[in-house]
Amino acid sequence: MNATTITVPQADPGAGYRAQKEAIDAAVARALASGWYILGKEGEAFEQEYAAWQGAARAIGCANGTDALTLALRGLGIGPGATVVTVSHTAVATVAAIEMVGATPLLLDIDPDTYTMDPEELAAVLEDPPPGLPPIRAVIPVHLYGQACDLKPMLRAAQAHGAALIEDCSQAHGALLDNVKVGNHGQVACYSLYPTKNLGALGDGGVITTNDTALADRIAAIRQYGWRERYISAEVGVNSRLDELQAAILRVKLTVLDAGIARREAIAAAYDAALAGSRLASPVRRPGSRHVFHQYVLRVPDRAQVMARLRAEGIATAIHYPQPVHLQPAYRGRTALGPAGCAETARAAEEVMSLPMFPELTDAQVERVCEALRRL
Ligand SMILES: *Cc1c(COP(=O)(O)O)cnc(C)c1O
Repeated sequence: MNATTITVPQADPGAGYRAQKEAIDAAVARALASGWYILGKEGEAFEQEYAAWQGAARAIGCANGTDALTLALRGLGIGPGATVVTVSHTAVATVAAIEMVGATPLLLDIDPDTYTMDPEELAAVLEDPPPGLPPIRAVIPVHLYGQACDLKPMLRAAQAHGAALIEDCSQAHGALLDNVKVGNHGQVACYSLYPTKNLGALGDGGVITTNDTALADRIAAIRQYGWRERYISAEVGVNSRLDELQAAILRVKLTVLDAGIARREAIAAAYDAALAGSRLASPVRRPGSRHVFHQYVLRVPDRAQVMARLRAEGIATAIHYPQPVHLQPAYRGRTALGPAGCAETARAAEEVMSLPMFPELTDAQVERVCEALRRL
């Protein structure tokens, strides 16, 4: 075997399609035959089914996860003249969305064990905001890698200072905090449906959930030119719609989401067992929460060597994320940071490594990864 042939990919959205090929092909054929391709029956059904699965009053489909965040911000009236607090250890989309609406991002550090926003630093900046920034109007904690943030103190702090709390659930569909799904704790929640996410379209997609029906109506209007009535813009909107093909596909994917999460948990348990007694610590789970393992992330001081060794055995790994947002060329030197200066964020970027993780990994592939982990 060629040593560089990857036999265990890190992610494989094609496998998710193949596993449901018949049902997805039928859904696509149905959507094509309908003659209606934008905001029709499939999209409405997906929104209803996703809201029911999430346990939220309303779900609104949109074009992608970045737009889900911008629509939530616009729906809350947040734009120029507002600061929005989030983290630097995230997909750049979280920060990009804040600037897309004209607001100013303020980036906080993470708790090094769970890689999520440090609630104490949040309380500190709400109490004593960095000088020169517009008032803080919203906080966007990111439930990273499938792990719920420590939301309770964040909600208390945000509420006390009149800031909205928007949950970025793009990596955590189905994660639980105190037995309640993430996305049901703040005012509004945003989810990417990018192909590799726990709920993935076969193209771009996003969804927003909320229990505030007036906010849902406003967001639904803004996603289509601010229309509440066809051709009449009640306010300035955008175009960010989920199309019927993706909605039809997502309806199939939603039926296997819970099984997919359970499979991710089983793979994580197998990796944990393989790492027990090794020099690498398995991921920390927040007590009272359910981690849904969008990614299974290890801290590896000699990361480059370990990645090369696994690669030589045909096992692909990835880095989420190799450079903190505030150090990337587009943001460096001009993005406000909290008092911690994102020191843990910078350290995490040097050490994190994501193992192969998707529901369609076979038992044999999981065992190959486990064998390699035991030898590290
Ligand atoms: C993927 C992701 C997004 C952006 O989603 P897109 O669908 O790619 O626009 C936003 N936030 C987080 C945390 C993500 O992982």
